[in-house]
Amino acid sequence: MNAVAALKELQAARIDTLPGDAPAAFAYGADATFRTPDTLFVVLPATEEELIAAVRILVEHRIPMTPRGSGTGTTGGALPERSAVLFTGRLTACRIDAGDLIAEVEPGVLTGDLKKEAEKQGLLYPPDPASHAYATVGGNIATNAGGPSSLRYGTTRDHLRKVRIVDGAGKVRELGAAVHKFSTGYFLPGMICGSEGTLGVVTRAWMKLVPCPRFASFIEVVAPTFEDLATLRSLAPAALEYLDARAGELVTGSRQSYLLLRLEAFTEAELAEQERRIAGRLTSAGRFFRMGRDKKEIWAVRELLSPLSYQLGERKTAQDIVLPFSRIPEFLQWAELLRGRLPAGMELFVFGHLGDGNLHVNLLSSQDLAVEAKRVQREIVIQTRQLGGLISGEHGIGRERREALGLFIDEPTRELMRGIKKLFDPYDLMNPGKVL
Ligand SMILES: Cc1cc2nc3c(=O)[nH]c(=O)nc-3n(C[C@H](O)[C@H](O)[C@H](O)COP(=O)(O)OP(=O)(O)OC[C@H]3O[C@@H](n4cnc5c(N)ncnc54)[C@H](O)[C@@H]3O)c2cc1C
Repeated sequence: MNAVAALKELQAARIDTLPGDAPAAFAYGADATFRTPDTLFVVLPATEEELIAAVRILVEHRIPMTPRGSGTGTTGGALPERSAVLFTGRLTACRIDAGDLIAEVEPGVLTGDLKKEAEKQGLLYPPDPASHAYATVGGNIATNAGGPSSLRYGTTRDHLRKVRIVDGAGKVRELGAAVHKFSTGYFLPGMICGSEGTLGVVTRAWMKLVPCPRFASFIEVVAPTFEDLATLRSLAPAALEYLDARAGELVTGSRQSYLLLRLEAFTEAELAEQERRIAGRLTSAGRFFRMGRDKKEIWAVRELLSPLSYQLGERKTAQDIVLPFSRIPEFLQWAELLRGRLPAGMELFVFGHLGDGNLHVNLLSSQDLAVEAKRVQREIVIQTRQLGGLISGEHGIGRERREALGLFIDEPTRELMRGIKKLFDPYDLMNPGKVL
């Protein structure tokens, strides 16, 4: 590896760079884990051609590299480990093809901007991570990001139809096709999605759009029972989110658990019918609920839950587990018991995309409880495994969950994954220290 020679070549190609010890390099290397990045140097391509040329120069000099969008990842996936940071945030071209219901985007486009561009044409790009205002589509693809809308529309993977990557040998590959169905050999975009930059760098993507339902209604069910979870899910809402009592208190100030439902429709009549159906089920059991077409506020505040949680402690660790739906009541009861035996100074709250079985289990504490917090997190991981779940439904493995991966994916499968990585990344340069 010859970092000096690589930097000279990048500069000769007029591709912007920053030395790893420049103060701004810290900002380009850090992510939502708040760990210290170990950055060789930062590369800031301004075009797709520059991004591809930069990767090829790094490959030629055998420089490990970490692709990066906005650094909102929660698992250390974008954290460089003695590697060059490839910042994609300047690549923001976005073209909507309303006829084909496809968006062609560069990786640095913010998810929220893609959603707005689609809306201008009466279309919807459904994936809605709470970070949509500042996370990139490239980062969403790499982590297979999801959100409340995943219940109805699926995660980022369900929308990625075609992807262009430059792999760890410097080869440009176009995988998939800009069409809505595919049975023409292996569907490889599905594998790139969720690979967290370990197979290659996404330089362009073609995402599926859908017609945008014009009418929506919001329902808050206060203090739901476990039966409510199953009943309401069976009524097929567009989104079904859960806040336990501690999360509910952070959002509303009142210590109550909540189920949040969103209904969507293309006509008034269709929406009214859905509202009637659901209200009938709720009223019959005398539950307290609010319904309305103007009740968006709690959803907006819910998106701030992650930042709000720092009121409970300076140090946060979180799991992003996904469980079979039928095991959720068991997990929530267990979490309640766990809460009761946490040491003083430690707080636990659970919220998430209940309809998908995807729960965020957050632990807040002071710095001096770091060892204890690790032990509690381990308990949560073991309990998830016992209930037949997985450790990530949408945030990925990154660096933080590598140790636990072996509990969920058996060795022959990990061997297969290593073999696939070798095909895309023969010199082991793509995002070292992540996932496997
Ligand atoms: C407040 C908050 C709320 C969040 N809410 C959600 C949520 O609701 N749902 C959810 O799924 N996530 C959520 N996240 C996590 C995070 O926003 C997502 O993982 C998001 O997809 C990361 O996008 P990014 O642009 O910040 O990527 P980064 O953090 O920069 O990178 C994430 C991973 O993607 C890789 N990567 C980035 N760009 C590329 C590329 N062009 N090619 C290849 N690999 C690349 C990186 O190497 C890294 O492994 C939240 C985070 C925060 C801080």
